[in-house]
Amino acid sequence: MRKLVVATGNPGKVTEMQEYLHNLPWELQLKPQKLDIEETGTTFLENAGIKASQVAIAVGEWAIADDSGLAVDALDGAPGLYSARYGNTDAERIERLLRELGDHENRSAQFICAVAIARPDGTIAEAVQGECPGEILRETKGSGGFGYDPIFYVPEYKKTFAQMSPDLKNRISHRGKAFEQLLPRLVQHQK
Ligand code: IMP
Repeated sequence: MRKLVVATGNPGKVTEMQEYLHNLPWELQLKPQKLDIEETGTTFLENAGIKASQVAIAVGEWAIADDSGLAVDALDGAPGLYSARYGNTDAERIERLLRELGDHENRSAQFICAVAIARPDGTIAEAVQGECPGEILRETKGSGGFGYDPIFYVPEYKKTFAQMSPDLKNRISHRGKAFEQLLPRLVQHQK
């Protein structure tokens, strides 16, 4: 089986990727802990590419990385690349976003997820981006998921991400959409 090193320090992310990549002959591994990659890109795709490429070169194996966040239209795409750093806790991040958006009429937002796969020499073999459009509520609803899920409402399903079953969220989410594009393309890299 071909090894695929996941460019994250978070074991939860490996499990999550394993679920998306099940049935494929890739053996997922966590990147070495001391290997730290700076996210210096200006887009989600760029950041995913930088992380995949640098980890691949450092360990001499194929590597996969993702980068994701929430872009709110009325805030010119914020928190965007800074979604994880917008506050110290999920509650703080949500509170800040609601404060900055205030009473704004335009509540449109999208979750974005870029995923990149790099060859051992650091060249990018695949890079995809998935998006999930929705609306920012004025208060939290639901207790599932993580991050901004309780304020991200998807009109088509009349639910926030935090009110959805994990199965539904995985299917329609930005991450689900990214892996949906990626999976058929992976076949060519399996030999
Ligand atoms: P990263 O992709 O690990 O850099 O994290 C991006 C940040 O975006 C996370 O820390 C969350 O705050 C937010 N985020 C990304 N995906 C989701 C999601 O599916 N639900 C809620 N928040 C998310």
